[in-house]
Amino acid sequence: MIHLISDLHLSPDDDALFHRFTTYLSSLTPSDFLYILGDLFEYWLGDDAAEFLGQRPVEEALARLTANGTKVWLMRGNRDFLAGTDFADRCGVGLLEDEHILQMGDHRILLMHGDSLCTDDLEHQAFRSLVRTDVWQQTFLAKSVPERDAMARAVRYRSENGKVAKTIEIMDVTQPAVEAVMHQHQVRLLIHGHTHRPAIHQLALSGPQSGHRIVLGDWATGPSSICIHASHLELRHDTKADALYF
Ligand code: MN
Repeated sequence: MIHLISDLHLSPDDDALFHRFTTYLSSLTPSDFLYILGDLFEYWLGDDAAEFLGQRPVEEALARLTANGTKVWLMRGNRDFLAGTDFADRCGVGLLEDEHILQMGDHRILLMHGDSLCTDDLEHQAFRSLVRTDVWQQTFLAKSVPERDAMARAVRYRSENGKVAKTIEIMDVTQPAVEAVMHQHQVRLLIHGHTHRPAIHQLALSGPQSGHRIVLGDWATGPSSICIHASHLELRHDTKADALYF
């Protein structure tokens, strides 16, 4: 079975959240596939900083899961875009590109984190373009971990403040960005996270069939996940569940 989660925003000061995460992992079987669509961590300062960040228990939980046979893939979000191959190797997980096609029989599903679709959020798009460059990442990772932490805190506080000022609309995905990326990949189903607005949206795309955009929720109050079956997929968020039949 294929499972998808995103936006856990794991932080060492939230034991209940970590427990929710490990409980979810223990529900998976060795024959399952788990896709994590970004923002697994509240923030990430580089693979050499896992101990500093108090995130070793998360790595150990993932390593136990993958050692047991479950295949895990991780897409990086806007909080953990610095997760790299050392982290992936320690956990036994594979890293995905920002736009990944999940092929299931005749179905092609586009997986994304989702922040790149929030094109009205110009401030975030400018930040994203900057921090995704090799030059910025090499310069950042060359600094000491405490220096990186100080810089990340400054940015995080700024973006937290910015979030309050921004309207709800600006922080959501835009329809043109969604249609463009779905057209580019020739898909009728997109699954993403980031906006913390779990839902199954029907889309009016060109062509005979309609399309769907499915949004995973965050884990602030309970697990949010998608499970893909042969005939349908199920979006579960807290105690609610919604299904899409293929
Ligand atoms: Mn995000």
